[in-house]
Amino acid sequence: MKLRNINGTSDTTCKCGSWLLHWKKFGGSSLPEFCPETGCVQKDLVGAHVQLGGGSTDQRWYICPLCSRHNKHVGELSVTDTIKLVSASKAATCDR
Ligand SMILES: [Zn+2]
Ligand SMILES: [Zn+2]
Repeated sequence: MKLRNINGTSDTTCKCGSWLLHWKKFGGSSLPEFCPETGCVQKDLVGAHVQLGGGSTDQRWYICPLCSRHNKHVGELSVTDTIKLVSASKAATCDR
C-alpha cells in the first residue's frame, strides 16, 4: 500500500508517551522487526504520521511505524500491506 509521510508535525507525543507506544496500544499488534517500507531492513522504528497515498480520498491522519530515515522521507512510500495503521486522532483514541 502507498502512504504519504506527513512531515513537520509539531505533535511530537501523546498521552501514551510516544507515537510508537500509541500505535502498539491502539493497534493491538506487536512491532514489526523491520521498517515496513518495501525492502527496508532498518530497525530504529518511530511512530510516523502518515496519510494514505495512491490518490486515496481518505484524508485522515494515521500512525505507522517507520524507521527514522523513512520518517523523514518526503512524498509517497510503499509499505507492506500487512502493516496496521492506527488513528492519530487523540480525540478518537487516548484523549477519550
Ligand atoms: Zn496516544
Ligand atoms: Zn525504513
